[in-house]
Amino acid sequence: MDFAFVSGNPALDLAGTVGSRRSRPVDALTGSADLERWVAECDGLPDHVSADATTFEAALRLREAVYRLALDRILGRPFDPDSLEVVNDAAAGPVPTIELSDSGLRTSGDLTAALTQIARSAITVLADADARLKECGRADCTRIYLDRSRGARRTWCGMEECGNRVKAAAYRARKRSS
Ligand SMILES: [Zn+2]
Repeated sequence: MDFAFVSGNPALDLAGTVGSRRSRPVDALTGSADLERWVAECDGLPDHVSADATTFEAALRLREAVYRLALDRILGRPFDPDSLEVVNDAAAGPVPTIELSDSGLRTSGDLTAALTQIARSAITVLADADARLKECGRADCTRIYLDRSRGARRTWCGMEECGNRVKAAAYRARKRSS
C-alpha cells in the first residue's frame, strides 16, 4: 500500500495511516515492515530503522493517541488524559541526530528516536491555537490535516487521495441525473 504524506505534519500523517476510521477502518501499518517503510518515507525521520514487536506496539499507541488528541482539538473538547500521557511520554526521549554534509542533511537514529520526533511534532501542532486542523471533506476519509492554505479554504486531505474522487463521483451523479 502507498503511504500518503499530505497532512502537513508527520504526527498527523502517522494518524492518517488508518483510513475510514468511522466505517470500515483500513490500516496501512499491518506489521513492523510497514512501519519501517513508513518512517523511511516520512521527511525528517531516519531512513533506516528497525521495528520489533515492542516498538511497533509503541508506534501504534502513539498513533492512536495523536489521532484522539487531534480529534479533540477539532471538536473543541478537552484533550483525553490517557492520550496526553502517551504523547508526552513519547516526546520525552532522545531525538534523532541530524548532520550536514555536501549531500545535504542526514537524519539518523532508531525507531524510538523517530517516535520521539513524531510526538514532539504532535505537541507543536496541537499546542498551536492558530493551527487550522481539519478533517477531510470526503465523508469516509477521516484523515486530519493541517490547513496552511490562504484563507484556510482547503477541503480535502489531498486532491489525489480524495478531492478528485469526490469530484469524479459528483460528475457521475450529474451525468446520471441528466
Ligand atoms: Zn481525504
